[in-house]
Amino acid sequence: MTGLEFNARLRDIPVYPAAATYSFDGELVKLASNETPFPPHPQVLEAVEAHLRTLNRYPDPERTVLRRRLSERTGVPAGRIAIGNGSCELLLAAAEAMLEPGAELVYAWPSFSIYPHLAAMSGARALIVPLNDAGEHDLEAMAREVTAATRIVIVCNPNNPSATALPPAAIDAFVAGLPRHVAVIVDEAYVEFSSLQDPDESIALLDRHPNLILLRTFSKVYGLCGLRVGYALGSEEFRLAVDRVRQPFSVNALAQAAATEALNHVDELERRVEQTAIERMHLESELQERGLETTDSQANFSWVSVGERDEDAVVGGLAERGVIVRAGKALGQEGWMRVTYGTRHENDRFLAALDQLL
Ligand SMILES: *Cc1c(COP(=O)(O)O)cnc(C)c1O
Repeated sequence: MTGLEFNARLRDIPVYPAAATYSFDGELVKLASNETPFPPHPQVLEAVEAHLRTLNRYPDPERTVLRRRLSERTGVPAGRIAIGNGSCELLLAAAEAMLEPGAELVYAWPSFSIYPHLAAMSGARALIVPLNDAGEHDLEAMAREVTAATRIVIVCNPNNPSATALPPAAIDAFVAGLPRHVAVIVDEAYVEFSSLQDPDESIALLDRHPNLILLRTFSKVYGLCGLRVGYALGSEEFRLAVDRVRQPFSVNALAQAAATEALNHVDELERRVEQTAIERMHLESELQERGLETTDSQANFSWVSVGERDEDAVVGGLAERGVIVRAGKALGQEGWMRVTYGTRHENDRFLAALDQLL
């Protein structure tokens, strides 16, 4: 112990559960972090390389070019688009800008592991609503938790880790039923993978609900999680607030260049989404044949029940065979595991390892 003194809130902030890495003699199959197995597009790499020569300059604090390109893509005015060092930064900034002791926040559980940070860091109260038996958000139960003190409601759609999604009509009705002082943040990190909607459909809801915020990321289908870029589509007021509480240069120049270029390759995205859907069908039917229950995945991963088996034995046994998945226990639901879809070869290594264990 050093004798340093820390603020009282620090104790409440959970430590992010990093995926375990194991010493394994051979090629590791990493299916624990919902990353895409596809490398960045060659032209995205070129855009990054072109920017290496100007790294003696600070990045654009206004993120002008990326915001303009996103505006063209989405039809949302650039003034209503906030860019973050990953969408996680925007979530934490929303907490910084909107929450305080006495304020409340509502979200479902199990859901994304960063959400508990928002209350912990701000001193606000979190109202946590369990998913229903199908692993879906229970929007009615969530609406019942909203009070005059509620500042933020988060809906993760599709949900991490349960992989289920709700159609835009359900989000529309939910937001319409809530008071306007509540910011509804719909975390759409996996929206491109959902067969229940076209990504543009939820964007159309922004016109009807000034308190709606859609959170998206370049980390998943775009495959740029190593660079950290995400964005929020919402109101200008929200954008100005999250910009104010953050340092001006939080989104680095390479990240801005890569994300801007990635938007030029939407056909590549469609190919990836199709590929992912094929792997989803493959894995889910193989799991079903083995009698393992899954939820209805609308994402690039499956949420798999280990049934009566010991979760640690299954997840640990997979790791011993070089296949890394996420234990449900670490994500809020014991007896389950979250398995990201890799390449066919990787998914079949997962299945082969599983067969040795079952
Ligand atoms: C992966 C993920 C994100 C992305 O976070 P970044 O900070 O943009 O990398 C956001 N929300 C959820 C639910 C996720 O699973």
